[in-house]
Amino acid sequence: MKNELITYTQGIHAFDTGYLRPQLAAVHLIVHNRRAAFIDTGTYATLPRALAMLDSLGLTPEAVDYVMLTHIHLDHAGGAGVMIGAFPNAQLVVHPRGARHMSEPSKLMAGVEAVYGKERTRQLYGELQPIAAERIIEAHDHTTLHLGDRALLCLDTPGHARHHIAIFDTQSKGVFTGDTFGIAYRELSVGGRPFLFPTTTPSQFDPAALRSSIERILALQPEAAYLTHFGLLPEPQRHAATLMQRLDAFVSIAEDAARKVGADNTAADELADELQALIAPPLRTFLIAEARAHDVSLDDDELDTLLDMDIDLNAQGLALWAATC
Ligand SMILES: [Zn+2]
Repeated sequence: MKNELITYTQGIHAFDTGYLRPQLAAVHLIVHNRRAAFIDTGTYATLPRALAMLDSLGLTPEAVDYVMLTHIHLDHAGGAGVMIGAFPNAQLVVHPRGARHMSEPSKLMAGVEAVYGKERTRQLYGELQPIAAERIIEAHDHTTLHLGDRALLCLDTPGHARHHIAIFDTQSKGVFTGDTFGIAYRELSVGGRPFLFPTTTPSQFDPAALRSSIERILALQPEAAYLTHFGLLPEPQRHAATLMQRLDAFVSIAEDAARKVGADNTAADELADELQALIAPPLRTFLIAEARAHDVSLDDDELDTLLDMDIDLNAQGLALWAATC
């Protein structure tokens, strides 16, 4: 697998975390006057790549001032503990709702084990390393961090998860959106046109909050969005209407399923399972039809393979929302 540093503009870089498949999840890196900030971490297995990327820029682990998490889902935050361990001068920057889970990861780990099982969780994420509280900065809405004289503004952006922030780089006018501004896999770009869709994974998906967070991001008038999945999205405002339409379509599919199930006395978890089974097929049909309308050239099998995990996770998250709202 290629393991290269992607260089964008004004000291902004990205590289592949190596999580699950190539070009699934990125780590971003801002370098300014030879000081560095990582945005998202991949998993524990991403650390050797992070060190290699620093080295390729002529930087040592001591040059890292911040490890910033957009949120604490483990494809974004699983490597936080080992990175903080490897970067002696770095502080972890995380939403206040995520801070406790980073210093005491057992509850977070148990939640992941409930979804993936113990063995698969260990295989994917290893053992999360706890981070000392004094090395954690809680990023409240409008907290500003300084990488030298470069200001990085944190915004509270719930909707995908309640522990989500976006990070606005005031110098480049780029915004690091984690999962709030959706997913745009490189394989689905056609002639430079990205294929962008929302991510509604469990367990805190909230469509109203997500819509207003997307609007907050657009209000920054960003020149670029940097998505964890995957990389640079130029002129994000051009794609906002499509993202919102697809979000509305996801929500309608969940609402249709909820109407079919109706109000009965089913326990919430059984109801969510029932809803998920009703949501996944039309969600798949919708996303594949949208990808075809976008002129994606992958064949049906390739498209299914690429979108399978997202369809499954998005259906789960929509079902949980529909079961509890
Ligand atoms: Zn996420």
